[in-house]
Amino acid sequence: MAIIITDECINCDACVAECPNNAIYEPDQEWAYSDETALSGMVTLPNGEEVDADAQNTPVSDEFYFIVTDKCTECKGFHDEPQCASVCPVDCCIPDENHVETEDMLLEKKAWLHGE
Ligand code: SF4
Ligand code: SF4
Repeated sequence: MAIIITDECINCDACVAECPNNAIYEPDQEWAYSDETALSGMVTLPNGEEVDADAQNTPVSDEFYFIVTDKCTECKGFHDEPQCASVCPVDCCIPDENHVETEDMLLEKKAWLHGE
């Protein structure tokens, strides 16, 4: 499943550089599927929805660092464990029970993000 950042986040910025998918953003930062991925132009999301990968999207949180669910692969294909959770000083990067995915689904998402 994807990882989610809770409101215990202290906005320390330690996790951002660790994410292999550029799925983590600062509070109130617009984001795009194309940020540091192979995606561009119109793409089909894992849920079948068609979106513009280059479009700037509304920040998920204006208070805390946040993770874009469709860009988070739990670090599958890169690392043995979620890197954001590994470095977070307050352990606020936790599994998102509302976005449960199998390892195969996460690896497919990784391939989709990086054009493999
Ligand atoms: Fe990024 Fe990995 Fe954290 Fe997901 S689990 S947000 S891919 S560092
Ligand atoms: Fe927030 Fe943890 Fe990331 Fe720091 S490492 S910004 S506390 S989620």
